Order: sequence, then structure tokens, then C-alpha cells
Amino acid sequence: MKDRAIRQIVVVGGGTSGWMTAAALAKLLGGKSRIRVVESDEIGTVGVGEATIPMIQRFNTALEIDQDEFLRETQGTFKLGIEFNDWGRLGESYMHGFGRLGQDLGTLPFDQYWQKMSQAGLAGPLGDYSITQRAAYAGKFMRTASDLPGTPLADIAYAFHFDAGLYARYLRKYSEARGVVRTEGKVLDVTLRSSDGHVDSLLLDNGDRITGDLFIDCSGFRGLLIEQALKTGYEDWSHWLPCDRAMAVPCAKVGDPIPYTKSSAREAGWQWRIPLQHRTGNGHVYCSRFISDDEATAVLLRNLDGEPLAEPRPLKFVTGMRRKAWNKNVIAVGLASGFMEPLESTSIHLIQTMVARIVSFFPDRDFAQADVDEFNDQVRFEYERIRDFLILHYKQTLRDDTPFWRHCRDMEIPEGLQRRMNLYRSHGRITRENNELFSEVSWLQVMDGQGLKATRYHPLVDVVPQAEITEFLGNIREVVGKCLDVMPSHAAFIAEHCRAPSIK
Ligand code: FAD
Repeated sequence: MKDRAIRQIVVVGGGTSGWMTAAALAKLLGGKSRIRVVESDEIGTVGVGEATIPMIQRFNTALEIDQDEFLRETQGTFKLGIEFNDWGRLGESYMHGFGRLGQDLGTLPFDQYWQKMSQAGLAGPLGDYSITQRAAYAGKFMRTASDLPGTPLADIAYAFHFDAGLYARYLRKYSEARGVVRTEGKVLDVTLRSSDGHVDSLLLDNGDRITGDLFIDCSGFRGLLIEQALKTGYEDWSHWLPCDRAMAVPCAKVGDPIPYTKSSAREAGWQWRIPLQHRTGNGHVYCSRFISDDEATAVLLRNLDGEPLAEPRPLKFVTGMRRKAWNKNVIAVGLASGFMEPLESTSIHLIQTMVARIVSFFPDRDFAQADVDEFNDQVRFEYERIRDFLILHYKQTLRDDTPFWRHCRDMEIPEGLQRRMNLYRSHGRITRENNELFSEVSWLQVMDGQGLKATRYHPLVDVVPQAEITEFLGNIREVVGKCLDVMPSHAAFIAEHCRAPSIK
């Protein structure tokens, strides 16, 4: 049989997606194909993207990256969840904590017993039963204690905050050590093969021509190959997720870094606060139809808790996804494949799952259409479920104090999301579809936190006597409290395990 193996992979772009892709393929393909990254220092990267979700640990584990070293190199901190301020109602806050809530009792999940008691005014807020939420607010952190099975300490879900520029640099070093070749240069032109329209080669500004069998487009929003060359098309979701700009600025840190991201709603968008070891990342995501760039900058600067360390950096985007992430011999990863705003820190996760999928569906030079179609269907499923979860934050608000929030409250939403909200409102039921990213517990925390209340609970809850449920909830709250007592502070944990060298 003729050898149809992919011999040369060309990754266009050296931002977070380019170097994550190169690092993972260098490790996981076992040297089967040569890998080249083409990037242009002159064009630069988006450079934001500092908060993650727990699945990033799987990426690091697959690459055998030492977690402490990674945090030292990227000025990283730990993240136990996201606090949402003023989202459901002005003056109110809630947290989307990672991991489990409570424990199961009988045949139903924890939240159904909580629903009954909460509806009767006899339960505390959800956070009382969550080790990650309570540790976050107490400024504490430790990794999962596998020697304490059955306790909340055996199940601490966490992610990281890190400096995106340092992360790309770290992965570049990792990739080059594993044979990846970096080419500095600007791609000026893309040549397509006349026979089948596949990408044949790239022309660089120094006159070099780069050829390859498989091209990975990590060129950011511009989608140099997937869009500019192949005209794949983009599905615009800004009628559901109206924010289209961001202004980002780092500021000096004040005090120890807290182990969670803050997201604070503003009059026409929201502001993030991401604590790193050496500074704090901030950004204001907003909708340009409702606020000007100057006003948005002023809102951002007014709400910093340390001195700004740079000029605010403007970013423009259109929320949505590429019609096909994989088209001919080009696969788009990162911002080239689509963008949903960073409300739940999902972009880096989407890079990671795209790379995992590239490995699962790794092609030969025939590029079987069945593989391409399945790949694209899976990407769409993943994107659409995350999209609906994000829309929930905007749609389910009780705020009506500004035109932006009134617009969000009144907008049409995808039918699947409406069905989920109706299902929850009726009996507090939540269903998770196949492998969708966010679990029932995530949906629950956001629905409840945003002010969507269930009117009844699962009838089978009444099989368990109420006194037993009361005792059960009380026990969980007490055990979580005892676990907190043995956890070190987040700052002490970093100091002991992963303090970056420049931090005294
Ligand atoms: P880019 O960073 O834009 O990199 C593109 C690369 O392509 C660069 O190296 C550039 O030089 C190269 N390039 C482009 N054109 C050419 C050319 N002609 N020739 C040669 N090279 C070229 N994600 C999270 O997970 N968590 C977050 O908290 C988060 N916050 C975000 C906040 C905002 C406001 C935005 C906009 C994004 C955020 N993201 C976040 C997303 C995250 O920043 C991106 O997913 C991530 O940085 C990947 O970007 P990228 O590598 O795809 O693109």
C-alpha cells in the first residue's frame, strides 16, 4: 500500500493556541510527523486569556508537565471558581465553584434534597455545601488529598490563573525541546492546489515558501487559512451574546492573590479580575451599541484595585463559530475557529479539546470526509452547549436598570436553552447532554445564582423523612467546615510549592 502518512504539519500562529497545539502534537504523535510553527513577532498575539477551568489539568498531565514548575514559570495561581457580582440583581453575588456540591443521599442527587429544604426556607445557600466555594472565600487552597477518601478534601476541583504570554513562552520551550521548528515571518500569501483546493504552500515576507500536508490555523481572529484562503464562513451569535469589545489592563496587585476569578456586571457588560502572583489582570467586556470605548475605559480604570501597569488595550470580536473547524487540509484552532467571550474561561479549554480531537481523528493525506464531518459535528455540539450556558448569564437576570440589561432580559434565546430553563423552573431538574462541558452542578449554581428559582422539587424526595434531610444537610455543612480548618491559605500554599522566582 502507498504511504499516505502526514509528513509535515504546519501550524500558523504562535499564540496560546499555536504553542498548545505544537506542544501537544510533538508529545502525542511520537515524532511521526515533522512540525513547524510559523509566527510573526510583528503581528503579535491577543495576549489575554489568563483564567482556565479544571480540565486544563488533563492537558498538563498528557504532556507530563510538572504543575509546580508550570505555575512558577507562568506566575500562576490556583482557581476554585468564579464569583459573579451584580449579575442576577444589583448588590447580589454568587459563585460558580468547581467540582461537586454536597453528597448523594438515596436515589436522587444532592441538589434535589437541597431544593426541598431551600424552598421551605430551611437550607443555606448552595455555597454552604461546597468545599471549593467556601475555601475560595476563606482564601484557602490545597490539592486533592487522595489519602482521605470519602471526604470533601478528596475531591477538590481546581484550575489556574496564569500569564498567557509566559504560558506561550513556556510551551514554546517545551515544543522546541521536542523537535518543533519555529519560523519567524509574516505569511503574505497562501497558494491553493488547483486539483482539490487544499492549501499547498505559504509565502513568507522574506520570500521563503513553506509547504505542508496538514495546516493548523492558529492565526487568531483573522483566520488566515480557514477564512481568508478557504472562505469557510462564520456563524455570528452576537444576537445572543451581544458583547463585542474588551478593554484589558493589568494592575499592581494589592494583597495576596485570591483563589478565584471575579466577574462584576457593569452597565453594558462586565469586568474580570484575575489575580496572578506578580500582578492582577483586568478587563472590561462590553457591548459597543450601549457604551462608547471611552466610557468603557473609564469604567475599567475606575474599578481597578491597584495602579494600572500599562495603557488599556482594546480588542474587538464577533461572538460565534467558524462554519467548519476542519475544511480540506486545514484545521482551525483557538480564535481562528471561533470565539465566545471569556465569561466562563472556556477558550483555552476549547483549544485543548480541539487538539485532543485532532489526535483522535488524525488524518492521512486522503483526508477522509467521514472523519472531517464527524470532527466538525463534535466541535459544533461543544460550542453550542457552551454558548447556551453563557447566554443563561445574560438572559436570566432580574436587572432592568440599564438599556443593555433590559435588552438581555428581553432577547430571544435558543430553543434548547429555553427548554432547560423551563425544566428547572418546574421541578428543579437539570439534564446534561452527552459529553457537554458544563455539569448539572454548574448549571444549578448559575441558574440559582442568577435568580431562576424552581417552584417545586422532585416528588421522590419525600420518600426520605424531612428530619433525615435536615440532619444530612447539617452534617455536610459541618464536615465542609472541618475540612476548611485543615487547609492552608492560598498564599501559604503557593509560597511552599510554586512561588515564582521574582516574587520575594
Ligand atoms: P492569537 O493570540 O491572536 O495568536 C495569533 C498568532 O498568529 C500570533 O502568533 C500571530 O503572530 C500569528 N499570525 C497572525 N497572522 C499571521 C501572519 N500573516 N503571518 C504569521 N503569523 C501570523 N481564554 C481563556 O481560556 N480564558 C480567559 O480568561 C480568556 N480571556 C480572554 C479575554 C479576551 C478579551 C479575549 C479576546 C480572549 C480571551 N481568551 C480567554 C481567549 C484566549 O485569549 C485565546 O483563546 C488564546 O489567546 C488563543 O489565541 P490564539 O492563539 O488563537 O490567537
